[in-house]
Amino acid sequence: MNRLIFCVILLVLLFANPISAAENEKLPIGVIARFDDHGAGLPFDKAMELGISVIQLKVPVAANRTEENVKKILDTLEKHNVRLTCVVSGFAGESYKTIPIVKETVGLTPEKTRKARFEEFKEVSDFAKRLGVSAVQLHFGAVPHDTASKEYKDVVQTARNTCDYVFENGQSLYLETGQETAAALLQFIRDVNRLNLHVNFDPANMILYGCGEPVEALRLVGGFVRSTHCKDACWAKQPGKEWGEEVLFGTGDVNAPLFLKTLHDFGYTGPLIIERENRENPEQQYNDIQKTIEYLKQLRKNILHRPN
Ligand code: MG
Repeated sequence: MNRLIFCVILLVLLFANPISAAENEKLPIGVIARFDDHGAGLPFDKAMELGISVIQLKVPVAANRTEENVKKILDTLEKHNVRLTCVVSGFAGESYKTIPIVKETVGLTPEKTRKARFEEFKEVSDFAKRLGVSAVQLHFGAVPHDTASKEYKDVVQTARNTCDYVFENGQSLYLETGQETAAALLQFIRDVNRLNLHVNFDPANMILYGCGEPVEALRLVGGFVRSTHCKDACWAKQPGKEWGEEVLFGTGDVNAPLFLKTLHDFGYTGPLIIERENRENPEQQYNDIQKTIEYLKQLRKNILHRPN
C-alpha cells in the first residue's frame, strides 16, 4: 500500500513539474533555432512546433538583443516547455564559401577583426546571461598550426580572455569542432588551460573540413564534449581542399549509430542538437529535421535500453 502511495506521489510530482522532467531527460533532442533572420538555424517559432525539449539559439543581431525580446524568448520557451542549452555566437563578415575563406574570416582568430569581435562576443555572453544560459558557443576560428609561434600564443591568450569573461557570467565556452584535427584541438584546449572550456562536437564538420574520421576524433576529445550537433556529411574527393557534402543525418559518412554509441560510452547524457542547413528550401529543411528527430529517438532508445 505504501508503495502504491509512493508511486502516485512520484507520478504527480513528475507531471506537475514538467520542466524538471525535461531537465532530467537523457540525450534530449533539439535543434539550432534563430530568433531573427540572421545566421543559421530554424526560425524560432517553427522550432517550437517540433515538440522537442531543448534548443540552441543563434544570437540575434545587436539591435534585437532587447529586454522585450529576452522576455519574449523566455516566455515562449516556458510555454512550450523547451530548455535553452546554449547561445551560439557569430560575427558579421564571416563567410563559409570555401575552406581558405573560412580560415580568413571566421571567429576570433583573424587578427584584423579580433579586437572588435572580442568586444562583441562579450555582449553576446551578457545577452546569454540575461537568458539564464550557462554556455556560449562559437566557431573559434582556425588555430595556427605552429604551436611555438607568436601567432599561436596570441590566439591561446584570446581564448583564455574569452573563457575568463564568460566565467564571470557563470558560463562555459563551447568550441565547435571541425576546423582542426582532434589532436590539434586537444593540444589547444590543454594550452588554454581553463576549466570552463568545452567542446560542442559536430561530426559532420570533421568530414566537411577534411579534419579526420569523426568517431576517432570523438574518442580523443570525448572527455571535453558537453554538447553535440547531429549533422552528417560525405567526404570530398580532395578532403581539406574542397568542401564535403552535407546530407541528412544517418545517410552520410559519420556512422550515426556508432557516433551516438561512442558518445554514450563516454557517459555523455547532454543534448543531441540537429543541425540541418537549407535556407533555400525551408520546407525541405523542416521535413528533414522532423525525420531526424524520429531517427534520433530510435537510436537513443536502442542505446539507452541495450543490454550491457
Ligand atoms: Mg555545427
